[in-house]
Amino acid sequence: MKKVAKAAALMLATVMMTASLTACGSKPDTTQANDAAVSGQPQKTEESTVVEKQNETDTQKATPEAETTLTFGTNAEFPPFEYVASSGVIDQYDGIDMAIAKNIAEANGMTAVVENMEFDSLLVALQNGQIDAAIAGMTVTEDRKEEADFSTPYYTATQVMIVKEDSDITSAADMADKKICVIQGYTGEICVKDLGYPYEAFKKGTDAIMELVNGKCDVVVIDSATAEKYVFDNQGLKIVEDASAFESEEYAIAVKKGNTELLDKINKAIETMLADGTVAELGAQYIEAISAE
Ligand code: GLN
Repeated sequence: MKKVAKAAALMLATVMMTASLTACGSKPDTTQANDAAVSGQPQKTEESTVVEKQNETDTQKATPEAETTLTFGTNAEFPPFEYVASSGVIDQYDGIDMAIAKNIAEANGMTAVVENMEFDSLLVALQNGQIDAAIAGMTVTEDRKEEADFSTPYYTATQVMIVKEDSDITSAADMADKKICVIQGYTGEICVKDLGYPYEAFKKGTDAIMELVNGKCDVVVIDSATAEKYVFDNQGLKIVEDASAFESEEYAIAVKKGNTELLDKINKAIETMLADGTVAELGAQYIEAISAE
């Protein structure tokens, strides 16, 4: 538990130094956002710039009231980053990302609002103006960068394999003749697809884990911190890592392509939170809370 929290804090602390790679060992990702993360330099914004509407065609956001809210889309099925709780930091939504979202909104004199939706719908919701930003433990990938612009990364993760304690799987290659479960649209699915193995995709992490617990599948491929939570919650499971098959991924916030004004605001707030240790503290706090349940 302490160990898990410490590991998470370390991951958060090292995010600014880690060389960025897209999932599954493909090409290095050399974005502007990553340069900012490495240098730790906040990007400049025009202080005097009049706040413009983020989307002129979006009548929903045309009222003065709407301008005081920042609507974050998420998929609250990804503990410890976002999940539904009896009382969360933003309405019923809790987790590291939710606390980060609240901080970003407040740093800009706004109120954070959350729209919970399927992970696969987030980038579309950005494009059509339903949400201002997506925060969902979302890994920056080359494909996603074609659909949205990403903030400075705030967390480094990797894909891991969750197996039964008595499993003989010790590496990704061992999955070749096993029944593999992934979650639809997650980078875990992309990784398994890249490895060329057949798999079954589930809508929710909990559904895939139930399949594993019930012996209907042999391995679930999912992000590291979320895997820790599932293994903690379910008896008889363990995590198997394979750094040669699954390289590091970086989580960042997505905004509509070209919305540099909002991206600058988000980046300033994230860079402040990375520099003053807020992000690392939140990570440790939420992961420790889960382990202490
Ligand atoms: N990091 C993974 C991805 O980007 C999973 C994110 C999530 O489930 N919220 O696909």
